[in-house]
Amino acid sequence: MSYNAFITEETIEGDGSGPLAGRTVAIKDNISTANVRTTCGSNTLAEYVPPYDATVVERLFEAGATIVGKTNMDEFGMGTTTETSAFGPTENPAADGRVPGGSSGGSAAAVAAGEADLALGSDTGGSVRCPAAFCGVVGLKPTYGLVSRYGLVAYANSLEQIGPLAPTVGGAAELLDVIAGLDPNDATTRAPPEGAETDYAAAADGDVGGLTIGVPTELTEGADDGVRTAFEESITELERQGATIEDVSLPSVETAVQAYYVIAMSEASSNLARFDGVRYGTKGDSDGNWNESFAAAREAGFGEEVKRRVLLGTYALSAGYHDKYYKRAQDARAWVKQDFDETFDQVDVVASPTMPVPPFELGESLDDPLQMYLADANTVPVNLANLPAISVPAGETDEGPVGIQFVGPAFGEATIIRAGSALE
Ligand code: GLN
Repeated sequence: MSYNAFITEETIEGDGSGPLAGRTVAIKDNISTANVRTTCGSNTLAEYVPPYDATVVERLFEAGATIVGKTNMDEFGMGTTTETSAFGPTENPAADGRVPGGSSGGSAAAVAAGEADLALGSDTGGSVRCPAAFCGVVGLKPTYGLVSRYGLVAYANSLEQIGPLAPTVGGAAELLDVIAGLDPNDATTRAPPEGAETDYAAAADGDVGGLTIGVPTELTEGADDGVRTAFEESITELERQGATIEDVSLPSVETAVQAYYVIAMSEASSNLARFDGVRYGTKGDSDGNWNESFAAAREAGFGEEVKRRVLLGTYALSAGYHDKYYKRAQDARAWVKQDFDETFDQVDVVASPTMPVPPFELGESLDDPLQMYLADANTVPVNLANLPAISVPAGETDEGPVGIQFVGPAFGEATIIRAGSALE
């Protein structure tokens, strides 16, 4: 279709009964679908067909959903624009000539264009929330462990979760209801604590009376003017509806982008070792020894951004530099987590712009990876702290949609859904 939201269009009908009967769902192409190719946006997996369904896909079928295809994404989830895909960029249906955000840009674009009712993405450092914000839809990153990662092709395991995208907060909550829950195939899944509110769709009631919302200066100050204005208008609206607004401070988030990229690249360098043309991935064109053959497979199979990250991650984990980079990044991660814990003693949710900038023009950010990494400043702290967060539309600038992000304490999905629904 017109926006290049899908890598593979294929309809698999649900059985027609269950809570998602008659609804269409698009699936990010790093989530395994039995007998339907799953490319991760990479040349190396262009022909790869998984033998099994991811747990979330099984649950969609059980809920009666119809799958309409596999969506475009930055290669292996590495990007913020969907331009690192080997299958060409996706266009933003809500902002002409601009990127849809990433890495789940195809999923957000499919929902924004009405090519699917709902979609699944994955969020390692913002990849559900960023494209939701840029395309003017809703995206939710669950608490680490709420949703099974079984069948998700790993980028950085300790950070990522599969999450729902939808036109409305209620829609995202309904999809979360279907995919959440313990999975014997993923030992990192956890049950919410006793007494936690877990009927997510019912939580989309818009009732923010008595809710305390913390606004961290560190995540608002640097934002683009238009983004800030839209954000402040949403905060004023929440206050009008009965929420209490408080300034809070999260000093640790200044270290979050650096820490995130060290950890994400380190984990990626280990995870992507399997794409050697023997275990997974297309075979390299080499008659040499195994070393040369692996190198040839990666040379041909991976794009620029993936190569950059495998190299940097390998470097950060190497014996001589491990303490200097990887260990320090883990210390920063612990600090971010502690900062959020202390803040949630004070407030119920934390709000900020999802992205500090409006959607980039197509092609604009490709030459400057560092600029692209910095755009993740508001989303990555959430993954470092394993917390839930939702991005909800908060108006527009001339350059496209703006999203507001609500972050909650661990397993506080119901609270952020409630806060988000108040803006609809
Ligand atoms: N933009 C971030 C990155 O490139 C986040 C990606 C993601 O969440 N998968 O790593």
